[in-house]
Amino acid sequence: MFDFSNRKIYCIITDRKKGIKMISKPKGTVDLTDKLARTWKYVEEVIDSCMEKYNYNYIRTPIFESTELFHRGIGDSTDIVTKETYDFKDRGDRSITLRPEGTAGVVRSYIENKMYGTHNLPVKVYYNGTMYRYERPGKGRYRELSQYGVEVMGSSDPMMDAEVISLAYNINKMLGLTDTVVHINSLGDKESRDKYREALKEYFKPHLDDLCDDCKERFVKNPLRIIDCKVDSNKDYFKDAPNILDYLNVESKEHFDKVCEYLDLLEVKYEIDPKIVRGLDYYNHTVFELCTLNNNLALGGGGRYNNLVSMLGGPKTPCVGYAVGLDRLVDEIISRDIDNVRDDIDAFIMYVNEDEKKNAIYLANELRMSGFVVETEYTKRSLKSQFKRADYFNSKYLILLNSDDLNEGLITIKNNKTKEEEKIMMEYIIYYFDEHISDDNLSIEADFHNHEEGCDCDE
Ligand SMILES: [Zn+2]
Repeated sequence: MFDFSNRKIYCIITDRKKGIKMISKPKGTVDLTDKLARTWKYVEEVIDSCMEKYNYNYIRTPIFESTELFHRGIGDSTDIVTKETYDFKDRGDRSITLRPEGTAGVVRSYIENKMYGTHNLPVKVYYNGTMYRYERPGKGRYRELSQYGVEVMGSSDPMMDAEVISLAYNINKMLGLTDTVVHINSLGDKESRDKYREALKEYFKPHLDDLCDDCKERFVKNPLRIIDCKVDSNKDYFKDAPNILDYLNVESKEHFDKVCEYLDLLEVKYEIDPKIVRGLDYYNHTVFELCTLNNNLALGGGGRYNNLVSMLGGPKTPCVGYAVGLDRLVDEIISRDIDNVRDDIDAFIMYVNEDEKKNAIYLANELRMSGFVVETEYTKRSLKSQFKRADYFNSKYLILLNSDDLNEGLITIKNNKTKEEEKIMMEYIIYYFDEHISDDNLSIEADFHNHEEGCDCDE
């Protein structure tokens, strides 16, 4: 017979061995650490600085919104709303949804804050934040994802479409993704799209049984989305499917031609791709995706949406915008090793005793406040270990503090690359680093230069 008492003892032992259970991050989330985190910050800095030059204002809206906003905004026929949102009831029994994308919240804010009343159109804003989609996680695809995006409200001019597209393109270029190509298409206005929708229905009707289940539903709700179905689109009969560009009316065609003309002027590399319809219901006229040559996945995309503001209860306002997935963007930059992320520090200050330590504390503060990147010792390591730690940080210089020298006001500075070292007066350390480290600061000589007769300096 099985000895249960024995088994019990065994369980207790294994539980003890296991100790306290570690808690892992939820599926589909990512921790940004080390190089990933630094590259991420770098990418965000490039984005911020570009946005500033184009005069787009930063906007920050809530991460959760009323569920209804996304149903009315993004549309009930999209996967994002029907299958992928994080919905919950809060403690006050309100239906709340974690935002699956950024546009609906920005547009809600535009209406709620009456930005249209400022006689300041177009309103140009950008955001950067996390979105939530309950989908199967994969490479560059997370349940908590990050996007930066742009929304412009209040201009129907094709010039606006072109500026927004070139902004996305130029940010990629600034980040080193010089092989970026914009795939662009037009969905036309409502009249053009209605005609196209009928043509699509007619065309796909004989193949209805062969289409995937999603497309069977799309056939009824939004036939345009059959065109970019990942399951079906390689099938033979997709080749001859109607092309939206053949269904554009005169105004829609004019708008699209102008966008392309302005993109040429802005030297944006683009391809016209009638297969791009985008996953969201609210687009009209221009739609586009941002691709790179060595990646089939689009980094992001967007387009014009002239009806969303009125659908959400605001005045009729033509809009254009886009969003780019930061996770994919950063992955792509890391995989190519093209980031400009700092991977060294200016100086590591080394010491052993308490007197030297006080000087280290003082000196680190002075140098940091003068703009240098400085590290020191915090855990009573031996000098030998401090050298190793300085190497770990790729420190350009080592500052060695020694009580005897300090009594005479001296410190030892060692160039960690050439291994040359010299003693200088501690009070001159900032000038020393200005001369040896910063490119854009004046050197010691320039600062203290006495303009004698016959001197050939510029001043
Ligand atoms: Zn399909």
